Amino acid sequence: MLINLNGKIVPKSEAKVSIFDHGFLYGDSIYETVRTYDGRPFLLDLHLARLQESAQGINLELPISPEQLKQELIKTLEAARYPESYIRIIVTRGEGDIGYDPKLCSSPSFIILVTQLMPPPPVIYEKGVTIALVSVRRNLASAINPAVKSGNLLNQTLAWMEGARHEAYEALMLNHKGELAECTMSNIFVVKNRTLSTPALDCGILLGITRKLVLEIAQLNGLEVKESSLSPEDLWQADEAFLTVTSREIIPVVRCDHQVIGSGVPGPITKFLHAKYRQKVKELTKSSLHPIAEMRN
Ligand code: PLP
Repeated sequence: MLINLNGKIVPKSEAKVSIFDHGFLYGDSIYETVRTYDGRPFLLDLHLARLQESAQGINLELPISPEQLKQELIKTLEAARYPESYIRIIVTRGEGDIGYDPKLCSSPSFIILVTQLMPPPPVIYEKGVTIALVSVRRNLASAINPAVKSGNLLNQTLAWMEGARHEAYEALMLNHKGELAECTMSNIFVVKNRTLSTPALDCGILLGITRKLVLEIAQLNGLEVKESSLSPEDLWQADEAFLTVTSREIIPVVRCDHQVIGSGVPGPITKFLHAKYRQKVKELTKSSLHPIAEMRN
């Protein structure tokens, strides 16, 4: 693992921030997780755009421009030299005295963490996963907006712990109205009669980048897609369900608690969309310049 701490590349053992960083004290930070394919950060511009929106969402000015951030990322990837990388970009409010006033902090810090991306176990795609519908509700959008990818992750941590007690792969949260929202680190989709549905933004979710690409691919392939309000019954009665997340693409869901979804195996539309997703990854990766080669030119 290698870390770029405000422009300086250091090993894990030296990657330290102050306990007075408001990111540590208050969860006052934002982040993005990106992965590479063929060494190239996938959909990086979309991730950097979402990072900027998250910064706006917490009234934080990024300490460097997205272009500079890209250069710093390339520098870190080049130093790390993993075949494939998992990347976490974090921007914290920075160091300051105790108190909520952001003016107490002199300048935000950025951190780019690069570690080797381990391929997910094939069994999750072959057999599908079980998720748990947990009692922890997703944050109210007017309290801590789930659309902001903030480092204030206690909501997800508590939900994840509840899911883990049920040995679930992921924990699914409802919003305050009892509608499906999202999982702790992924978006949810259901398929019924060849229509693909996923909770809309106003259900209180993060607008996942994988979610967006899957919606585009589904539409391009003639499937009907809906971003709407969904109930737990919609999931229980679905023909198929799946999760989407950058690092693991499309994960079939075959059970929610004791309720079997559809036929209890990954469904044909889920498999079709995953195959198309991987095809799209290949196309987009081929057409994007290799960042490391680019830097040497
Ligand atoms: N929802 C939450 C709460 C997440 O943390 C994530 C990713 O980490 C997602 C959804 C999926 O987003 P993406 O597809 O951009 O990885």
